[in-house]
Amino acid sequence: MIKLLKDADLYDPEHRGLCDILLADGRVMAVGPQVREYEGLPGVEVFNLEGAVTVPGLVDLHVHITGGGGEQGPSSRVPEIVLTQLTLSGVTTALGLLGTDGITRSQDNLLAKCRALNEEGLTCRMLIGSYQLPSPTLTGSVARDIVAVDPVVGVKVALSDHRGSSPSVHELIRLGCDARLGGILSGKPGIVVAHVGEGRGMLAPIFQALEQSDLPAGTIIPTHCERSEALIGQAAELTRRGGAVDFTADVDGSRGGTARALAYARRCGAVMERVTMSSDSCGSLPVYDENGLCIGMGVSTPATLLDEVHRLVDEQGFSLEQALPLVTSNPARVLGMSGRKGCVRPGADADVLVLGKKLKTSCLFARGRLMVFEGKAVVKGRFQA
Ligand SMILES: [Zn+2]
Repeated sequence: MIKLLKDADLYDPEHRGLCDILLADGRVMAVGPQVREYEGLPGVEVFNLEGAVTVPGLVDLHVHITGGGGEQGPSSRVPEIVLTQLTLSGVTTALGLLGTDGITRSQDNLLAKCRALNEEGLTCRMLIGSYQLPSPTLTGSVARDIVAVDPVVGVKVALSDHRGSSPSVHELIRLGCDARLGGILSGKPGIVVAHVGEGRGMLAPIFQALEQSDLPAGTIIPTHCERSEALIGQAAELTRRGGAVDFTADVDGSRGGTARALAYARRCGAVMERVTMSSDSCGSLPVYDENGLCIGMGVSTPATLLDEVHRLVDEQGFSLEQALPLVTSNPARVLGMSGRKGCVRPGADADVLVLGKKLKTSCLFARGRLMVFEGKAVVKGRFQA
């Protein structure tokens, strides 16, 4: 089925103004006024967008697709994500990963869930590993997992966090080299995504690893960089050295949310093309008392991404075309999927998000399939009511 989207106010993510978009065979076939000729032809379904803001489907680099958490024992393990949690939040591409719990959460389960989301119409990739070292793997080797297992694009680890393994600089370099080798041999990104905790070390292990090795700066990508002004300053510095950094959207937006942290990063001179924002969805948000005892936790959701984009525009002086790359073209670049994901251009996958009031999801197409229409999910996961 061919789909004609008429009168979209298109951000691709650059602002292109009023455009028509033709989707066919899961791809964007054409963008522009000439597309209108397809109207009325048999097999062409027309969606009149009436000037609605239309953007690429979001790319979320941090999704606990099999559920995270567990910091308050077995009953605090967060359930796995369901399809519509992502689609109703405008997400069409997700990077699945494990977190604190690399013991009861398996790599095989993560792989199966990743494949399930692909089968259900989204695009999903995954990281092997968890917070701990040695990294749990599928084949016994980080590099071999990246080479041999299709959706695996890199490895996860935790730094500066009491829940991780506090890797030495040498261990971090070795992990980076393994991921990079796997990436080179497979034509994939070969990245290390480093959860950065509240510990004193902040990004010091990454700077030391880069100084003491020949790893390219973009190999180790810290996530949760919004935690403090000191950490944001270090993240800005890493982008100036050629690295990429990730900020986690805030679940309730109290204290200005992560939008405020991103505005601060920009003031610190961060190279914004190398900054991404992800949701950490289905991860836990544990709260610890002064003795390190977990006293409560919340759960994060992918809906935070559009909320933060709205806050960036509404409160922090970003234009929409400055805010959107954080959740579209920039994370697509990290995944090695520029031109295919995070953009609405001929040849790209037909991942198109139409926004309504306050930048809420109105319609969503994922690889050309209509997933959300007028704010309601029209495609659901197999076991969703
Ligand atoms: Zn997480």
